[in-house]
Amino acid sequence: MSHLLEVTDLRKEYPLQSGLLSAVMGSRRVVHAVNGVSFVLDEGGSLGLAGESGCGKTTTAKLILRLLHPTAGSIRFAGRDVAALDGSDLLSYRRQVQFIFQNPYEALNPRFTILRSLLEPLIIHEIGQSIAERVERVAGALDRVHLNPPETFFLKYPHQLSGGQLQRVVIARALLVDPVLLVADEPVSMLDVSIRAGVLNLMRELSRERKLTTIYISHDLALIRYMCSVTAVMYLGTICEIGPTEEVIEHPRHPYTQALVSAVPDPDPTRPRRPVEIADTVPTPFQLPAGCPFADRCPQVMEVCRHLRPLLLPVDAGVRVACHLYPDSTPRTAEGYGAKMEPH
Ligand code: SF4
Repeated sequence: MSHLLEVTDLRKEYPLQSGLLSAVMGSRRVVHAVNGVSFVLDEGGSLGLAGESGCGKTTTAKLILRLLHPTAGSIRFAGRDVAALDGSDLLSYRRQVQFIFQNPYEALNPRFTILRSLLEPLIIHEIGQSIAERVERVAGALDRVHLNPPETFFLKYPHQLSGGQLQRVVIARALLVDPVLLVADEPVSMLDVSIRAGVLNLMRELSRERKLTTIYISHDLALIRYMCSVTAVMYLGTICEIGPTEEVIEHPRHPYTQALVSAVPDPDPTRPRRPVEIADTVPTPFQLPAGCPFADRCPQVMEVCRHLRPLLLPVDAGVRVACHLYPDSTPRTAEGYGAKMEPH
């Protein structure tokens, strides 16, 4: 079966500004923002990318959206190589893959009215036969995200709306062009806590109604648990654990996932909790360890972890883990994370 999205050994490196000495010596320092990420996503699926800030999840999203070009690896969408798309194929890809970024205040042009901001994608993608039809579509989209009556928002500017209203406008704009894949990066983190649930419920409802495929990027495991059926935990540019969300959160296998999960407050105070302590030292992304990227912080580190990278391989219950505690993750050669994952 072909997958809607197939990400294979994706890498993104940024060369660092080198000083005079390194220029003379010919050395080249590189930031490894994404370091061999692979996953597949089927139509209608929902994947959560979790991890601390700087782990490479937003860069992964930007690569999928083709806002950045990968250093290596590939992204295939509906069987086609995204890097090779151009002209009308690229425009079609940009219509089918929509995104919602963290800050709704930056997502809309402050000098455009809401109507103009929402008409623009319809004009670019030649959706609707006339202005009247397009305006009607905009009204329908605003109505769908519960901004009523829609006409009262047409001539407003972004600064006249609240954060929650603005994020609803951004959601309406993304859905106006009938996307297939929606990528949302920390979609409620800038919003007031009191309105987050409303926006998330709306996104979940609309995604189900339209059978959208979704990727949610968040440091918040509770959000991912609520929104996604599959969860991938990222650390230092790689995926260290991926599998069905309930399995990953209820029975975390990788020591880093265990630490993340143990840091989330449990609503059930009677449940026994065992906090997992990890060291504060985070390796810099331009000095990646030779072995497991998590070795310097891992409470269960072993000798083998220092020099051999574990592969991301199946453990049980549909979960894949990159950790030498699980014998299948220990490669015969020290190649690192190149294994292909199929979460579902
Ligand atoms: Fe810890 Fe070793 Fe597993 Fe890495 S491979 S998470 S260092 S036990």
